[in-house]
Amino acid sequence: MTTTENAKAEAVAKAAGVKTYEFTTTSAAETIAAGHKIAALLTPPKFLILRGDLGAGKTTLVKGIAEALNAADPDEVTSPTFTLIHEYEGEYKGAHGGGKTPVDLYHLDLYRIEGERQLDTLGLDDLATPDSIVLVEWGEKFPSVIRRSDGEIVMSSTGGDARKIVLTLK
Ligand code: ADP
Ligand code: MG
Repeated sequence: MTTTENAKAEAVAKAAGVKTYEFTTTSAAETIAAGHKIAALLTPPKFLILRGDLGAGKTTLVKGIAEALNAADPDEVTSPTFTLIHEYEGEYKGAHGGGKTPVDLYHLDLYRIEGERQLDTLGLDDLATPDSIVLVEWGEKFPSVIRRSDGEIVMSSTGGDARKIVLTLK
């Protein structure tokens, strides 16, 4: 995008009530810490596309989000490349004071899914419950997933171990 297009896109986003949050990190540990901050911004239900090149740190970020939700230790969170869907049960602080509310965290990788027909067999409708946070790697491949999403987290390498993380909530 050109500078003008960028400014235009920002103005459109602002008018539409879109919220963006930006983080920069310089190590995997810092990305896990950023995951904690992002988890605090995600009230279920959320369905987000997790976008970025291989090695950008998407799975590392999910480790942080899962840890913050008391859903899994970072070591237990691995890439769902072959299993397609990983589910973790956690909890989050509800908006109305003290109590903790259960949350189902789903981490998906659609890289190996070919076409909307095959996508249907995954049953995304069943995952997107009122208590769920769904994070979908390679979700941008599918128009139906883009339509369904509440926003996205985009990760990019900015040289060496530096990463930029942008969360956009519609
Ligand atoms: P993806 O899921 O996007 O393919 P991973 O999280 O599996 O990426 O891998 C990211 C790799 O980059 C890991 O080996 C991690 O240790 C390394 N790394 C280095 N710096 C960072 C950083 N700032 N944030 C996240 N990962 C980083
Ligand atoms: Mg990954």
